[in-house]
Amino acid sequence: MKIHEYQAKEILKRFGVKTLRSVPCFSVSEAVAAGKSLGGNVWVVKAQIHAGGRGKGGGVKLAKSLDELRALATSILGMQLVTPQTGPEGQKVRRLLIEEGADIKKEYYVAMVTDRASQRVVLMASSEGGMDIEEVAHNTPEKIHKVTIDPGTGLTAEEAEDIARKIGVPAESLGKARDLLKSLYKAFDDTDASLAEINPMILTGDGAIIALDAKINFDENALFRHPEIVALRDLDEENPAEIEASRFGLSYIELDGNIGCLVNGAGLAMATMDICKLYGGSPANFLDVGGGASTEKVTEAFKIMLKNPSLKAILVNIFGGIMKCDIIAQGVVEAARQVKLNVPLIVRLEGTNVDLGKKILAESGLPILSANNMADAAQKAVAAVKKAA
Ligand code: ADP
Ligand code: MG
Repeated sequence: MKIHEYQAKEILKRFGVKTLRSVPCFSVSEAVAAGKSLGGNVWVVKAQIHAGGRGKGGGVKLAKSLDELRALATSILGMQLVTPQTGPEGQKVRRLLIEEGADIKKEYYVAMVTDRASQRVVLMASSEGGMDIEEVAHNTPEKIHKVTIDPGTGLTAEEAEDIARKIGVPAESLGKARDLLKSLYKAFDDTDASLAEINPMILTGDGAIIALDAKINFDENALFRHPEIVALRDLDEENPAEIEASRFGLSYIELDGNIGCLVNGAGLAMATMDICKLYGGSPANFLDVGGGASTEKVTEAFKIMLKNPSLKAILVNIFGGIMKCDIIAQGVVEAARQVKLNVPLIVRLEGTNVDLGKKILAESGLPILSANNMADAAQKAVAAVKKAA
């Protein structure tokens, strides 16, 4: 689960990370009032969306007067902000953060990430802050430093200070950088985060070390332990089809192809997408209906897939293990009738009672293309899409 920058900063602040004074706003008048209450004569107007690279897209702007602040808030609020992370359609800006302007001397990158290979939390840091870290990793990998953190001790003061030195934090600010990194680790650990990134962490003219931007993603498997974090969820930022799917216990992720895949089991779903690709097709989604492919779930899954305007065919690939194939076939037939399918439906069933299942599909009177194996199913789906084009 993702949250906004201002929410991430509030969490980090609770753990002792230094941030600038700022006020989240939902309207232009609130933004101007925030500018007045913060005082000073330089403010930054920051679009709050669940995507980074906002600066590049024109979503982070400096205001040198309250009039300028008003004008910037008016133009950014409601805009369709396109950044390297939003995709070409962009994301509508519904919230702003008004922050005091910082005297930036240097920008660094620091982040806590989960490293699957070592099964540990890794602190990554670089002197090249404020930039696209993927680009730094690609072009100048030697500028990225890492510490693999022992979960028993947590990030130690020595490790934190050492990495701060490696990225070039000056001696007189090393203690502050060390404290920030230790707080960042504590925040990551306590909130069951999967990523906690500060890009940039800045050194100011007077030697302070501050989190200027913040991004925290949380492990959804642990959210039940954190109702206060769940309360930060902003559904406006999420794909409506994916929200709908999660209500029915379906794991659904929209992709940019045209073959809708309905599968039981995440592994089989991945394999189904792979085989579609192998035969020249392109999946419209990842969809795992889970262990029990009930009529209700399959019907909802069909409805969700059919809302995607790119959809040209549906490929159902179900392995009937505990759930028998005849029951699944009945569910698919029932669901197809309810949703009035307008795209070709290819079904591959395998497992217990498979012959009975195929018989039910054949006798349904519905234009269902039955497939004998995965390769056959993928080829039939690709052919159906070609025919529709
Ligand atoms: P994003 O990563 O989405 O582009 P950031 O919050 O990192 O957004 O802001 C982008 C850049 O804008 C920062 O690298 C920094 O140079 C500048 N910036 C952001 N906030 C401030 C601020 N309060 N004062 C001065 N400059 C800022
Ligand atoms: Mg940033």
